[in-house]
Amino acid sequence: MSSTTTYRAQRALTGDELTAIRNQIQGAGSPAEIVARVVRAVFTALLAPLGESLDDYDRDRQLIPGQFAIPQTQWEAICDAALNRADAFAARALLAVELIDVMPCTYPDLDAPVPPVERIDQRPYEHVLTVAREATDVIAAASAHCDRLGAAFGVGSPEYREAVTSWQHGLSRLFAMGLGARTYITRDGELSLLVRCDSGFVYGIVFHPVQRRCTRDGCRAVINDDGRAWTYLRDDPACPDGNHTPSYPLDAPHPGTWQFHS
Ligand SMILES: [Zn+2]
Repeated sequence: MSSTTTYRAQRALTGDELTAIRNQIQGAGSPAEIVARVVRAVFTALLAPLGESLDDYDRDRQLIPGQFAIPQTQWEAICDAALNRADAFAARALLAVELIDVMPCTYPDLDAPVPPVERIDQRPYEHVLTVAREATDVIAAASAHCDRLGAAFGVGSPEYREAVTSWQHGLSRLFAMGLGARTYITRDGELSLLVRCDSGFVYGIVFHPVQRRCTRDGCRAVINDDGRAWTYLRDDPACPDGNHTPSYPLDAPHPGTWQFHS
């Protein structure tokens, strides 16, 4: 494979270098320290053959990670070690984003050494979820809403399956530990939740109902639950007789999906 990119250093780390980098990462006591240790360990190794060290760089002479490259497999091994260590601080998601900015580029080299490591589960023992009582109502209402969709449209219908699948994804995201081991869940509307993670990250699991539209040719009317029809623009075409055909019955539960919003 040809490449037009010229790196200041492009090489495979030795097995010993990779092991030393992993050991550095394992000793980190906070997410910020993991990132700092990755930078120090990786670039100390890559700069040494150039006769340089990280101390040669500062605000005026900045190190540009993109000027260096290591084999893809070694890059993955280092990130894997860092993310695994981040689990100890429930900071996996946070770190995944930060690492991209500080790591060197990659190139394919399947012969680069990657010494095997024993994987240790470093996560805290428990994920503690605090669910406000109104949020428990939302969770019950969301499940009931899915049941009603199944009853109204059939359990094989796209309306039911899309709602259930998206709700299921939302629920499993709630329980996942990647954003912290301490999570607070509150109500954010009849069918929606607001989730605050210990890391400070806040997101919503928000139900988006599908609008009820008229299905007659050329009509752009939207139809409310009470049967009132309207159009976004005054001049939008609509059935002249006002006799709309709703895309789903007025008394049916709203089809829709739960979506992640940060
Ligand atoms: Zn119509």
